[in-house]
Amino acid sequence: MLTSNRMNGLHPYVPGEQPKDRVYIKLNANENPYPPSKEVTKAVVKFVKQHPDKLGLYPDPDSNDLHAAIADMLNKSGGVLCRAQVHGKEVAPAPEDKIPFTVTPDMIYSGNGSDEVLSFVFYAFFDSGRKFVLPEFTYSFYPVYAGFYDIPMDTVPLKDDWSLDTEEMLKRAENNQCGMIFANPNAPTGIGLTRDQVREMLKKARADQIFIVDEAYVDFGGESCIPLLAEFKNLVIVRTFSKSLCGAGQRLGYIVSSPELVNIVTTVKNSVNHFPIDAVAQVSGAAACRDVAYYVGTSKKVAEEREAFYNFLKDKGFYVIKSQTNFLFAKKDGIAGEDLYKGIKAEGLLIRHFKTPGIEDFVRITIGTKEQMAELRKAFEKVLGK
Ligand SMILES: *Cc1c(COP(=O)(O)O)cnc(C)c1O
Repeated sequence: MLTSNRMNGLHPYVPGEQPKDRVYIKLNANENPYPPSKEVTKAVVKFVKQHPDKLGLYPDPDSNDLHAAIADMLNKSGGVLCRAQVHGKEVAPAPEDKIPFTVTPDMIYSGNGSDEVLSFVFYAFFDSGRKFVLPEFTYSFYPVYAGFYDIPMDTVPLKDDWSLDTEEMLKRAENNQCGMIFANPNAPTGIGLTRDQVREMLKKARADQIFIVDEAYVDFGGESCIPLLAEFKNLVIVRTFSKSLCGAGQRLGYIVSSPELVNIVTTVKNSVNHFPIDAVAQVSGAAACRDVAYYVGTSKKVAEEREAFYNFLKDKGFYVIKSQTNFLFAKKDGIAGEDLYKGIKAEGLLIRHFKTPGIEDFVRITIGTKEQMAELRKAFEKVLGK
């Protein structure tokens, strides 16, 4: 056979569809409906025009400017954009989000989207001999990496209200003498644990058990665990530019952790590709972080539209999970998730349906602009027959 056994055993991730047959309003991949800040465009154009030579040279291997800009953004915003306060171009954290220490650039590692970052984190901290713990319904890339690196999983069912069963997760991690990963807020449910809940988990866990907290959606209303880095050395926080920083096409993700764990992930990366993200992505990412005020505005708008659409779905008789993210997870008696998805697609909008048993009744709806959500309301009314 031409291919390796390893290759034959792969089960790659299936992203939300990106059809080319017609122009849909895309509310199926949790992308941000707003463009990046004008400062990003300006910085990229300036870089390419003024320094075309730099495209012919290897980029800064340490992404120093980008890491400084990310750290600065976190310190200024508290790591939860939709609650941050803006005065002109100045941004301050909401009091409850203020990080009680200064995040420094050596606490940041960045990569080509948080998907790549996650793959190195899996390689660095989970073992093929020990099961790691994850929730049954969570980001569906985690099981893909487990397969890729041949790491066994211990999957913990969610509670009846779709929240994480933290007690059971801790018990299994203790039994397996291994760590855990979860998204906080979780996907596709949209429910978050509070920082105090995560702190309680970390207090009960042993210091040599790794905790990976994926904060892809935290800017839309969750509680960040960055402040816990002062107390726990076994915590790795993974974040992305793809959702709240309107940058899915930039492919930028990062971790916030102790400098020691940052170095460990860097060692893994340097064993695969000894260069970091490309030079243009470094420039665009830093420019985005420096205009954090803009993204505070877009995050607040997304959170407002989410609440409005939550109420709409409730009025229509849906079971809707209260969300701290840029999406809603909802179902309705009498209409199958797949039929709803198909009906909405026929109206020119894409939402997401998962065939996964246990959640097949639901649809996941990414929050778009006010105008897009108005179109979606019309489509729902048509499909549901008013
Ligand atoms: C979208 C998402 C990611 C991936 O983000 P990229 O930076 O675009 O690779 C990671 N984790 C979760 C939970 C996500 O929803």
